[in-house]
Amino acid sequence: MDKTNHTEFFEDIDRCSGRYVEELCDFLRIPGVSSDSGRGRAMEESAEWILEKLRALDFRGGIHFAGGSPIVMARQEYSRSAPTLLIYGHYDVQPEDPLDEWKSPPFEPTLRDGAIYARGANDDKGQFYTYLKALETYKRIRGVIPLNLIVLAEGEEEIGSKSLMHFLNQKKDQLHSDIFLVSDSSMLSKDIPAVTCGFRGIVSFEITLQTMAKDLHSGLFGGIALNAAEVLSDLLAKLKDSGSGKILVPGFYEDVRPVAEQERRAMEQLNYDEAAVAKSLGMTKLSGERGYSAMERKSIRPTLDINGMWSGFTGEGSKTVIPARASAKISARLVPDQQPDLIFQCFKDFVAGHLPAGVKADVRYLFGAMPVLAEIDDPNVRLAAESIEEGFGVAPAFIRSGGTIHIISEIKNTLKIPSMLILGWGRPENGSHSPNEHFYISDFQKAVRSLCVLFDKLSGHEEKR
Ligand SMILES: [Zn+2]
Repeated sequence: MDKTNHTEFFEDIDRCSGRYVEELCDFLRIPGVSSDSGRGRAMEESAEWILEKLRALDFRGGIHFAGGSPIVMARQEYSRSAPTLLIYGHYDVQPEDPLDEWKSPPFEPTLRDGAIYARGANDDKGQFYTYLKALETYKRIRGVIPLNLIVLAEGEEEIGSKSLMHFLNQKKDQLHSDIFLVSDSSMLSKDIPAVTCGFRGIVSFEITLQTMAKDLHSGLFGGIALNAAEVLSDLLAKLKDSGSGKILVPGFYEDVRPVAEQERRAMEQLNYDEAAVAKSLGMTKLSGERGYSAMERKSIRPTLDINGMWSGFTGEGSKTVIPARASAKISARLVPDQQPDLIFQCFKDFVAGHLPAGVKADVRYLFGAMPVLAEIDDPNVRLAAESIEEGFGVAPAFIRSGGTIHIISEIKNTLKIPSMLILGWGRPENGSHSPNEHFYISDFQKAVRSLCVLFDKLSGHEEKR
């Protein structure tokens, strides 16, 4: 392959970098916090901003409403024989607080030490914006983008993507695509980019136990009353074996797809420094399931966590009471091919089978998302890896994220898109969802480079030469 072929892209990106960064700063100034219902105007402004940029690139499209924040859908057709790419991103951001921990105001983008500091710089405005600028550079250099393109941007990712899920079902027929592209994840480390091959799913639920009609005096009734906090603690302690870290709920592991030895070996080679991670977290040693490395435990293995529990008196001082009710919030991260509703049923059955006589249990489903997995031998994944190697100058690692991006599994499964490319451009320490969120300009440039090369590869430009 003639690599000099791409220098024109790289030179164009260098030449335009100043303007590209300024434009990104304009985008970042719009305070689109989706959880704040008072920011409706900012959501509209964000959607309009994106649509305007796409129209300038000759995309046709518009703004749609499906209940909540506006959705941008725009497209550019090239030819029937060219592949169709669906590029997804979200313009909404997390709330900015705690404000006093920001070194510069969250919605006044500031350049410092080679990075842009602002809420959304990394998640996901900055990462999504790399696609807009790659399309711009590509078009300037090649004259035409020989791919069919659909861009889909939403403003509710941080609060569950409800509108987009409706929209996907309504517009399924207009969204047929061959390759799904998204950058809403991260690199492996500051020097090593990554292709994320999968996300864990999740199921989240709440248990409330009731042992008697009301809280009772522990002097008058202590010794004869059934304490709900004790019953709940006992039940929760049975969920997991504290020695092996195995989850003891029957059926929980039944659908877990074994991970290929080759992938486990590749993970081993990533040299995850367990001691350093433990230290950075203020722990003496990491915990978890026996028989798996830390890297495996946080990505390819399912987990179970008690997220919170409450019962009885928790105020200041003492109150000698026997609680009648006790509750806990629990969630499990799931891996292929576990399904949230089946796992929830396993927990419900487990609770029902372990209750002392007379205790009432209410087990309530809160939310769930399916795990997703790209095929590691998908040729497009290989093309993406080659493009990133050229753009960043370093081969990417193939990783699986322990997190869950609900909308990614929804898009992939609803639209049945065969190829999925999850290319994270931000560094793990870039402060997504935290104060002082930032995005390095050098990473931004490398990402735009990688995407230009990828568009060449996906359109078959290189074979034609
Ligand atoms: Zn995001």
